[in-house]
Amino acid sequence: CGIVGVVGDPDALNILVSGLKKLEYRGYDSAGVYVTGENQSDYLVKAQGKIANLEKKITDDVHGTTGIGHTRWATHGEPSVDNAHPHFSNDHRFYLVHNGVIDNFNELKQRYLADIDFKSETDTEVVVQLVSKFANEGLDTKEAFKKSLSLLNNSSYAFLLMDQKDPNTIYVAKNKSPMLIGLGDGFNVICSDALAMLQRTNRFMEIHDGEMATISAKDVKIEDKDGNQITREPFEVDVDA
Ligand code: GLU
Repeated sequence: CGIVGVVGDPDALNILVSGLKKLEYRGYDSAGVYVTGENQSDYLVKAQGKIANLEKKITDDVHGTTGIGHTRWATHGEPSVDNAHPHFSNDHRFYLVHNGVIDNFNELKQRYLADIDFKSETDTEVVVQLVSKFANEGLDTKEAFKKSLSLLNNSSYAFLLMDQKDPNTIYVAKNKSPMLIGLGDGFNVICSDALAMLQRTNRFMEIHDGEMATISAKDVKIEDKDGNQITREPFEVDVDA
């Protein structure tokens, strides 16, 4: 239901948690964050219920600079810690958050992932397992993600994908679910609603249906379905202090 992401800020975990709190008004049944970075091994926390429950579980000093967070409004699979996002591949390399519904997830599961041991009952996990499968078959992360996206028909999604082997990048994709890129000075953020990140930046860039983006601390690359680079001007949101 709510998505936040940050690349290139040593305070990533706090930025994610405070961003998720700004989206609480939308309603949700569980929440989770994943953070990593050069000086931080994988840090994944999920909780059912309020973000306060998630915060209670965060007892460590976390120095990750890149991460993704999610508040879930369950559509497939009951509210639970296992069904909360981020979802991850079985080798813990890929992490994914998702808003929306993957209409054909059962078919994809049967066709491509029959031998995979699933950790959740969600439609979302199918996508992170697909990315992992295609990466294991030799595609790089972006190509594995794009191949997975091409199989989702016209499902609704806003995704943030991370690859633990490349902790300085977040991959973004959107179709029929809101998503914005927020531009910072030496860092970038991503959110399903500008409200989540207005304390960090008031400069945002749209990403349109069917597009995907590759975000690092200093760079935003948007491309369409056919791989053409898109140039897009940012816009400013007026913030009433
Ligand atoms: N369909 C996904 C799930 O049930 C995402 C729900 C959402 O948008 O929060 O986990």
